[in-house]
Amino acid sequence: MKRSRRRFLQLLGLGLAGGAVAYNWPHEGILNPCLKMPVPTDLLEHDLVQSAWDGINPNNFRDVHTHLLGAGDSDSGIYLHPSMQDVLSPAQYVRFKFYMNASCAETQDGIDRGYVYQLTEHMESFPVGAKAMLLGFDYNHNEYGVADKDKSPFQTPNHYVQKVVQDNPARFEWIASIHPYREDCVEELEKVVHGGAKAIKWLPPVMGIDPSSERCDRFYAALVKHNIPLLTHAGDEHAVAGVENQEYGNPLLLRRALDHGVRVIVAHCASEGMGADLDKGSNEKSISNFKLFERLMSEQRYEKLLHGEISAMTQLNRIGPALKTVLRRDDWHHRLLNGSDYPLPGVMPLFSTQTLHDKGYLKATAVEPLKELRRFNPVLYDFVLKRHLAWKGKAFSTSIFESKNFFERKKTTTEG
Ligand SMILES: [Zn+2]
Repeated sequence: MKRSRRRFLQLLGLGLAGGAVAYNWPHEGILNPCLKMPVPTDLLEHDLVQSAWDGINPNNFRDVHTHLLGAGDSDSGIYLHPSMQDVLSPAQYVRFKFYMNASCAETQDGIDRGYVYQLTEHMESFPVGAKAMLLGFDYNHNEYGVADKDKSPFQTPNHYVQKVVQDNPARFEWIASIHPYREDCVEELEKVVHGGAKAIKWLPPVMGIDPSSERCDRFYAALVKHNIPLLTHAGDEHAVAGVENQEYGNPLLLRRALDHGVRVIVAHCASEGMGADLDKGSNEKSISNFKLFERLMSEQRYEKLLHGEISAMTQLNRIGPALKTVLRRDDWHHRLLNGSDYPLPGVMPLFSTQTLHDKGYLKATAVEPLKELRRFNPVLYDFVLKRHLAWKGKAFSTSIFESKNFFERKKTTTEG
């Protein structure tokens, strides 16, 4: 039976969990049941959920990695690659279907509106003051700075993210996305800074950005001038199919940004895949990307510039040495930020609360309430889960969840 299920999933083209699903029937089901909100009071008032806030001021809580997705079925300007809605491209189609299910976005009002509605509902289960930072997502661009729609799985325009945030500033802040090869990248940066964007988001392997290219220098200088941090993915990327440039996820490529003085937040602490030791001039992918990230973290000159972000590190395919290290290394904690990578915590096969217990990260009594919470609110689940994780007695520090001040922008004298 197991084998036929396995084949079924592979047929669906579900590469999402990096193979983990192929070996375990998903503990928490295939599809998010999208239970009717709000979260039942007894669950919200459960000691496990309440105690997650111990030592944390909700006003300072930020989820720094929340995707704003959609189908472009409103005036959002969202672009979706045709393959995402084409059953004949199962690898993309199934992913998109899972993201829509994870976010319970398919409503009568359409997907764009459904997505925002559901996410807003999720945030309403958080105490007043806690906010999610919504991400824009720029097109893939070629080396001449021209957008390439065919190589872009999707695009969420900055003006749309800004508008969603303006509609609900009590719950949301925003992070813009700008491809650095764009001719107008510096002008666009100025525009989004004026519009209140707190950071810039890149996904280099998918967007076609080589962070070590001199083509980025102008943009790096502008980031420093405006004191805007760069949230950039590192490590291998599997959230979209057919990624051409995994090598752009090598954390060592970020030296160029750091050496310019850019504050860099490395998404997922680069906890996936193997990279080349470019410091030694090697082209062979022989070291884990996480080890390369660890190397950068150990360099004194980057102490104030380099940061890590812990979204997705609790996913089934990532539980391992990286998660143990980030829990154990409390000397890093003041440099780490929390994100959920929503809607991924709603993709049911990607997480197994039970496995986190089996592997020694979570108390047995936490498993059932967390599983139940996840069926109502994957964003809150992600936070409560991380607050109860521990490895050999070491847990995440509260500062990781209080990122508001990190994004406070002190004006530099050179800024007009
Ligand atoms: Zn993400």
